[in-house]
Amino acid sequence: MSYITLDHGSGGKLTLELIENVFKAESGLDSAVLGDIAFTTDSHSVKPLFFKGGDIGKLAVSGTVNDLLCVGAKPLYLSSAFIIEAGFEMEKLKKIVKSMKEEARKSGVEIVCGDTKVVENGKCDGVYINTSGIGKIIRPIEGKNIKDGDGIIVTGTIGDHGFAILNEREQLNLETDLKSDVSSLTDLILPLIESDVDIKFMRDPTRGGLAMCLNELCYRRDFGFEIFEEKIPVREDVRVIAEILGIEPYYAANEGKMVIVMDKKDEERALDILKSNELGRSAVTIGRVSSKNPQLVILNTKFGSKRVLRMPTTDKMPRIC
Ligand code: MG
Repeated sequence: MSYITLDHGSGGKLTLELIENVFKAESGLDSAVLGDIAFTTDSHSVKPLFFKGGDIGKLAVSGTVNDLLCVGAKPLYLSSAFIIEAGFEMEKLKKIVKSMKEEARKSGVEIVCGDTKVVENGKCDGVYINTSGIGKIIRPIEGKNIKDGDGIIVTGTIGDHGFAILNEREQLNLETDLKSDVSSLTDLILPLIESDVDIKFMRDPTRGGLAMCLNELCYRRDFGFEIFEEKIPVREDVRVIAEILGIEPYYAANEGKMVIVMDKKDEERALDILKSNELGRSAVTIGRVSSKNPQLVILNTKFGSKRVLRMPTTDKMPRIC
């Protein structure tokens, strides 16, 4: 007999197995590409519901908008479904809905349908939100034609969301202005999609972070990645919290960042476009696609050594999004 564990929801190896073995589906792209329509869905169970930099509502809208952008779509319409625990404060719910509306407006999407279900007290942790989204494909970005030497770009600092949540939840009480990076990325990414730079692949490195994102992309493929520790932007306070908790920043969730695989010839132009937006100021190339180490993410450390950044198996950060 086998049972579902928290690790099945971690964005780790067990999640991939769950998707393959139980749902008999592929977990390739962030949204389905259906002709010129992109379609995606995501559920959110973050704990705490309100955190520095955002709340579950902002997270739900941003997450879905960003998943649509990943496949080269302009996000257009969202649905939102709430599962609410009886006894939940109405004022808190109003706050969450307001923040969803604000983020939707900012992202240029409309929330066009929704649903609410109330369950007994103690049967869910305040509120869970599912959002689905539809976008119009500007050009499909499906992870094809990835080749040796393609650049890997990250659009900003890594690990902010995961460690901001852990800092509050674990009551580390660290004196820091660290907040979640949660944000919809329409203003940052849409200009890139609408330009003619050769984007091979995009993913928002949410659960499982940068390590999961890159491992998933080279899973069963004939290429791997070589990335460089000194190039990966990480905030100093994130480094400190990471050290205290013994979790590497590369495994921490991001909610307002994009990982982009870009043809080398267009890298500089892509970086210029990204840096012209506030959200992409510290965009940088952190490494390259390499056919020498298929299915492996090799981290070149600051000390000149190499090690494999593995796919996360256990979840040290449940309920992060
Ligand atoms: Mg995603």
